[in-house]
Amino acid sequence: MSDVTRMTAAQIAGLISSGEASAVEVATAHLARIDAVDERVHAFLHVDREGALEAARKVDEQRSKGEALGPLAGVPVAVKDVIATKGVPTTAASKILEGWKPPYDATIVERLRGAGTVMLGKTNMDEFAMGSSTEYSAYGATNNPWDLGRIPGGSGGGSAASLAAYEAPLAIGTDTGGSIRQPGAVTGTVGAKPTYGGTSRYGLIAFSSSLDTPGPCARTVEDAALLHSVIAGHDVRDSTSIPQAVPDVVAAARLGATGDLTGVKLGIVKEFAGEGAEPGVMAAFRESVEALVKLGAEVVEVSCPHFEFALPAYYLIAPSEASSNLARFDGVRYGLRVGDDGNRSLEEVMSLTREAGFGPEVKRRIILGTYALSSGYYDAYYGQAQKVRTLITRDFTTAFEQVDVLISPTTPFVAFPFGSRTSDPYQMYLADLYTIPTNLYGGPAISVPCGLSEGLPVGFQVMAPTMADDRMYRVAAALESAVGTFTPPELSLESAA
Ligand code: GLN
Repeated sequence: MSDVTRMTAAQIAGLISSGEASAVEVATAHLARIDAVDERVHAFLHVDREGALEAARKVDEQRSKGEALGPLAGVPVAVKDVIATKGVPTTAASKILEGWKPPYDATIVERLRGAGTVMLGKTNMDEFAMGSSTEYSAYGATNNPWDLGRIPGGSGGGSAASLAAYEAPLAIGTDTGGSIRQPGAVTGTVGAKPTYGGTSRYGLIAFSSSLDTPGPCARTVEDAALLHSVIAGHDVRDSTSIPQAVPDVVAAARLGATGDLTGVKLGIVKEFAGEGAEPGVMAAFRESVEALVKLGAEVVEVSCPHFEFALPAYYLIAPSEASSNLARFDGVRYGLRVGDDGNRSLEEVMSLTREAGFGPEVKRRIILGTYALSSGYYDAYYGQAQKVRTLITRDFTTAFEQVDVLISPTTPFVAFPFGSRTSDPYQMYLADLYTIPTNLYGGPAISVPCGLSEGLPVGFQVMAPTMADDRMYRVAAALESAVGTFTPPELSLESAA
């Protein structure tokens, strides 16, 4: 049998249901790949070898008894470390949660288990999902499999890198401002942010509750859709979960793969044009637009005049919500506790714990958010940002009266070298220029690889109206059928394997 680590999730599921491969064989092959390359990639913070093999054995047993298998039975999956996994360390890449083992599974993890997937472990990320490069992980950065000296994107760099390095065929990410799509773009993988409320936040360590959205990461659009359909859907334990049926994203991806986009209207956002994406990124984007036109799509320019205020609005709303959500890390309830020597007050222990437990970016956000929410400044900052959010939502609504989806590059630049943006937070924030408007609106968006610039992958973003997640899958799959998939050069990783 050829190497299962190179196969798609759909292919692996097929092999397992037909009995050509066992789930244990598939899990073992992926664990061996992790052993061979993860020292250099560092996609994982924790590998759950025992748990994975146990889950795989269960699938094999079910099969041998002739029981019905879940839709992704035996397919390995890597889970971002911001998602609670029962009995398995969950740290959000922060020192403040070091050693914490949640007593429960997040809803999406429950659904992953129900579908028969095999969880390999927890992936690296920027601390509390704040960042665009994974350099803010308290446990060291993840390296981009395309070039180990470059960032894999963030905050979900570990999930994306695990796919590009063939350590896992599927991964879960969370997208608050772009953390699924931007890592997808810079690693040449697919990342989808579902409609806000389309996937449950129960068991997700909260960053910005009105924006956080868990979603699928994969190497192909169809695989992302398969994973999406397993994790999405109403959850009574999340009050913002949408009580509606999930659109058939798998059928939409398969329809798109036929390469026919006749009658589909794509909107190019006029205001994005002036924002200075790298020339190589723009070139790959333009060629992709031409490819989509050849498939029958029509391209229209639309205006979204408030998109230029998305970044500043996001950097008030997200830190404000974060400052409130992160108040629960007080040294009493979870993980780290510093200075509890019997002589210090609760406030002193809390302050020493936070000083030692939170990294610099997290502290920056807490300070910013606390300031923006303080009485006297609330209206000027947080209140104003919420008004901008409403205007951005109107821009989307108006645009979707003219077109089916909006398209743009996912990121203004390809993977950058380590250290090149950490000294200036604003330069780091720019990575999400094109992804953030969608989060403020709440609609779905996907990043699909569309070409290379200077040998590094470029992502193409498709944004759709809320609860029309199927539309973005159709267009993304059509583009994939035209341009193909992109695999990292057989780099230094291979010599280790
Ligand atoms: N890069 C953005 C930030 O730092 C988005 C993060 C995310 O989507 N989790 O906030």
